[in-house]
Amino acid sequence: MTVRILPARQEVMQAARRYAFLGLALFALLAPAAHAVPVNFQPVADGVYAHIGEMGARTVANEGLNANLGLVVTPAGAVLIDSGATYRSAQQIAAAVRRITAQPVRWVINTGGQDHRWLGNGYFQAQGAEIIAHAAAEADMRDRGGDHLAALRAALGPLADGTVPVLPTRWLQGRDERLELGGVVFEFKHRGGAHTPGDVLVWLPQKNVLFSGDVVYVDRLLGVMPYSRTRPWLATFDEIERLAPAVIVPGHGQVTDLATAQAQTRDYLRALRAHMKQAVDEGLDMSTAIKTFHAQPWLGLLNAAELMPGNASRAYLELERE
Ligand SMILES: [Zn+2]
Repeated sequence: MTVRILPARQEVMQAARRYAFLGLALFALLAPAAHAVPVNFQPVADGVYAHIGEMGARTVANEGLNANLGLVVTPAGAVLIDSGATYRSAQQIAAAVRRITAQPVRWVINTGGQDHRWLGNGYFQAQGAEIIAHAAAEADMRDRGGDHLAALRAALGPLADGTVPVLPTRWLQGRDERLELGGVVFEFKHRGGAHTPGDVLVWLPQKNVLFSGDVVYVDRLLGVMPYSRTRPWLATFDEIERLAPAVIVPGHGQVTDLATAQAQTRDYLRALRAHMKQAVDEGLDMSTAIKTFHAQPWLGLLNAAELMPGNASRAYLELERE
């Protein structure tokens, strides 16, 4: 018996080595073409999907796709929520959509004015999609689109090739707007901006799912930028509490619930504003105000150390103007 087993085992080993070599050769052959950012839509409700982007910086490896995306499949077509940062990453998003549904992307919604929300628009518009955003995003997109692209070119090199800032073709005007596609209702809530001036909530009442865009950050600290406004940001958050969604797809971080969003986004903004209001009222200088902010509850969030000082200074300046 042993005499027969031994050669068989040797053959298996030889075959394994041969296949391993073949596998390596195949991998080497495919590797350049296979270098593509992984976009992966996971179901969050019936016909509703989310791609959870990386939480770090824009890199060659993630092709600027460091934010979350949404997909809603209706019988009359698919709706993409945010189009990614580049033409090339938009192609990867489209390929990920095709793995979920054969429906064409009829609408693309841009939830805000930051690059990874809309610089992939050109690809989808060329495919026949209508691009939708809130009118409050227009000036911001026009102002910053070119700068975004320059920064992406610096970070991504040739991976940013083909990207052109393509503005939406349909601007939503009101505080509350409603659209319907294939029987699926999309409600839009704009309360004066948040992380960017055009930040809009996309609420699916039949699905009990909210795509918050950059109104909600979890797992990583939110960014208060020069174009952010914390007062309307909290007013927008009030609207989320009124809607009480079962599922929140945040702008950044894992799919979450209201309690987590309250703790990691609302409570931080409230504490920051309260602290800076008191500092401004008492005539405290900015650097003292920044140093005395009690940041402890949010220090565990990713990027907290880097973002805290800038957030605090911009909140101080905003409170000074109010
Ligand atoms: Zn963002």
